[in-house]
Amino acid sequence: MPGLVNGHSHAAMTLLRGVADDLALMDWLNNYIFPAEVEFVDAEFVRIGTELACWEMIRGGTTTFVDMYYYPDVIAEVVEDCGLRAYVSATVIDQRSPDAENASDSLVKGAGFVERWQGRSSRITPIYGPHANYTLNAEQLAATRAAANRYGAPISIHMSESPFEVQYSKDTYGMTSIELLESIGFLDGPTIGAHVVWPTDREIPILAERKVGVIHNPTSNMKIASGIAPVTAMLAAGVRVGLGTDGAASNNDLDMWEEMRLASFLQKVEQMNPEVLSASTVLTMATRGGAAAIGLEGEVGELRPGLRADLIQVAFDDVHHVPLYDVVSHLVYVTDEQDVASVVVDGRLLMREGNLLTLDTDRVAAEARELAGRIKAALEERNQ
Ligand SMILES: [Zn+2]
Repeated sequence: MPGLVNGHSHAAMTLLRGVADDLALMDWLNNYIFPAEVEFVDAEFVRIGTELACWEMIRGGTTTFVDMYYYPDVIAEVVEDCGLRAYVSATVIDQRSPDAENASDSLVKGAGFVERWQGRSSRITPIYGPHANYTLNAEQLAATRAAANRYGAPISIHMSESPFEVQYSKDTYGMTSIELLESIGFLDGPTIGAHVVWPTDREIPILAERKVGVIHNPTSNMKIASGIAPVTAMLAAGVRVGLGTDGAASNNDLDMWEEMRLASFLQKVEQMNPEVLSASTVLTMATRGGAAAIGLEGEVGELRPGLRADLIQVAFDDVHHVPLYDVVSHLVYVTDEQDVASVVVDGRLLMREGNLLTLDTDRVAAEARELAGRIKAALEERNQ
């Protein structure tokens, strides 16, 4: 089958897996994640964390992902070496970021990266990653769109993720999040909106008309209690919707099979209707639909002549697959990461019969454990 498309991730955050759980988004971000990132994230952290994430994604059958994090050149180098396909962006925030001396420094990071990686690798698309409309102001967001359009580069942004974000937008601009983005011309070009949990009835047609690729992250939305995205309403309105894991600090893994399952179950229970978001619909969201959401329709996400050879084999040997009546049912409601046997990206084998060929998993695991040990010791010392 085609490889899976993970439309929203912060790959290196695998190293912060489990560092702060059971917290609301703004508490989690402002009091745990942003401070931990300023303290611990450097080029080495991003290299090891991204390798760990790529290992897990290959292991689980993800062949394309859309990433947003610090030190994007390091992310791109890891992706280039391990053979995956990715859209890579620098997280840009108007405050001191881990890869910048000061706030204004952090604002110019994204542009340099896009310039450096334009056309450099057939598997890597450098894109812009303005974090959100509460970490950048309207002027900065409009300037980001202008810069992106100069390079024809897509933008990935957290969009209408939480009630906080929508309220902030109303208080600051007198408009809800997506209306604000539309009003400043931010949607005048390829846009990937991560989460989109709280679009209003007026905003959903804007998403369809502007061809915004919406990435639904059910696990993260459930874990941080951001809410339930109106996925069926968006699909019915013609919005392109794909799936993503978000970072491993709010998931806490990068398992796209689980995202498919939870996306389906969450809509069913919200609408008290088991007929919504069927297995075949979420399977499409994780493959062809996800590819369309990020602008790679006709390139990946399907098995047919002329497309890139991004494909996976899933083994149905394990006892949890017995018996087998319906393949699509098993892919969505039974399969997990460990069932993926082989992975090919761009015609190159990255995993064969469960053996990773492009990453030294023993080294990656040892380095990740060693670095996480240092982080744990520093956090314990701080909390004493
Ligand atoms: Zn995110």
